[in-house]
Amino acid sequence: MGLSTTIQVPRLNKSITIPTGLFINNEFVASIDSKEVIEAINPATEEVLCAVVAASEKDIDAAVAAARKAFSTSWGKNVTGFERSRLLNKLADLIERDAQELAELESLNNGKPVKMARDSDIGDTIQCLRYYAGWADKVLGQTIEVDNKTKLAFTRNEPIGVCGQIIPWNYPIMMWAWKVAPALAVGCTIVMKPSELTPLTALKLSELVKEAGFPPGVVNTVPSLGPVGGAALASHLDVDKVAFTGSTVTGRKIMEAACKSNLKKVSLELGGKSPHLIFESADLDQAANWAALGICYNSGQDCTAGSRVYVQESIYDKFLAILVEKMKALTIGDGLDDKSGGGPLVSKTQYDRVWGYIDSGKKEGAQVVLGGEKRKGKGYYVDPTIFGNIKPEMKIVKEEIFGPVLAVGQFKTESEAIELANATTYGLGAGLHSNDANQCMRVSSALEAGTVWVNQYNMLNNNVPFGGKKQSGFGRELGSHALDEYTSVKAIHWNFGEKLDWPL
Ligand code: NAD
Repeated sequence: MGLSTTIQVPRLNKSITIPTGLFINNEFVASIDSKEVIEAINPATEEVLCAVVAASEKDIDAAVAAARKAFSTSWGKNVTGFERSRLLNKLADLIERDAQELAELESLNNGKPVKMARDSDIGDTIQCLRYYAGWADKVLGQTIEVDNKTKLAFTRNEPIGVCGQIIPWNYPIMMWAWKVAPALAVGCTIVMKPSELTPLTALKLSELVKEAGFPPGVVNTVPSLGPVGGAALASHLDVDKVAFTGSTVTGRKIMEAACKSNLKKVSLELGGKSPHLIFESADLDQAANWAALGICYNSGQDCTAGSRVYVQESIYDKFLAILVEKMKALTIGDGLDDKSGGGPLVSKTQYDRVWGYIDSGKKEGAQVVLGGEKRKGKGYYVDPTIFGNIKPEMKIVKEEIFGPVLAVGQFKTESEAIELANATTYGLGAGLHSNDANQCMRVSSALEAGTVWVNQYNMLNNNVPFGGKKQSGFGRELGSHALDEYTSVKAIHWNFGEKLDWPL
């Protein structure tokens, strides 16, 4: 196959050219030894958009070697923070220039509305790159007084080295930025493996990496199947760190591979079953807006999806009635259609998975309050669905669904609400709505989650850390905390006066 292709998009009356090779050393290349391809599918139409090269283990070796060479020559300790900052800002400018086309491509391959991809995902991506560009020349160590007369120590935060980054399909561009930006800011080099479901925008971004002027080998992009390329990165002896976002099942495999190979540093951002508590003093209309956003945003394909809403008994019926109307009002359709507030699910596998959960909810006796019926026609659509009358042991209450499927339950007291919220193996996000400030403080302290939203939901900022507790993973992305994930602290002890008497 060739190393680029052009997709015709009649609905937009345009064509988009996409590189389809592996991006290694700033060139798009064919696989060394494999004829495997990955087909990118439009989930709104179920049509194949194009095929891209699937990296083999040998290709991963080549990408890691390129990243290693760049780390020890043009990047790593050989580039100043000012230069890293300049290049990150340049990349942000190029993404801003191409935002519309990137958004269209993201929508075609992932299904999300173009507007959402452009204004939210790509807007945040540009800001993320600029935010870490700001950090690049501020990677500071400490000076530590050991004794005032003869000794001091200081620390240096050194780039950890070659980083394998394995990202999912729900926010292909944004997850790319969350991983690439802090790693480049501190001087690491990268082998990026996008999801096999959504490889196109990572390849398009690779073109911009080259145009921005990053030296060859600093960012390498290797679309590949998870058990091939992802597993090869996780177990590679010359990869110093692996950063992963995806399912808890795969996260375990990655940690195991890291453990069995070279004990590389690992950060995992995994799934969730996030609770959203609505107390009786809350502004119910606003709480319903946030609860609808919590489960419908990105068609529920969100690691922090607020998939369990618990409502205080006294307002349960009233709140549920408002929530149903809010969720009904959302238009789900083709992402290329301006009217769509949500798109299809990403793939047939996810579609079958989510319908499997809806069927299990019905079988286990939960009450369908909204949705729960399949559409006819093409596209992996699932309309917003609400289950009431839930029990803690139901699969729809315990397991991550990753679709717009909400379980709604009730509580009497604050302590019962907290108990229900924390009754999960996950600990990624949680939300609460209340007009009682003391209650907000008490409950947010008691919730077992890496992020708690008070009187809002799902809002993230590039300067605020994000990550999980419990089986939602460990490590933090965003904010200054992400820099720690890509640096290794070296302590230097300096003696400027003490004489050692020998023998002891
Ligand atoms: P996944 O975890 O298998 O895939 C995520 C990434 O991991 C992809 O790039 C994939 O290629 C890679 N991968 C897969 N197997 C691997 C392996 N053995 N070693 C290394 N990398 C590997 O997720 P999925 O199968 O696409 O989706 C299944 C479920 O995972 C979803 O329904 C959802 O519940 C969850 N999920 C969570 C997130 C999140 O943001 N936390 C993202 C995607 C999926």
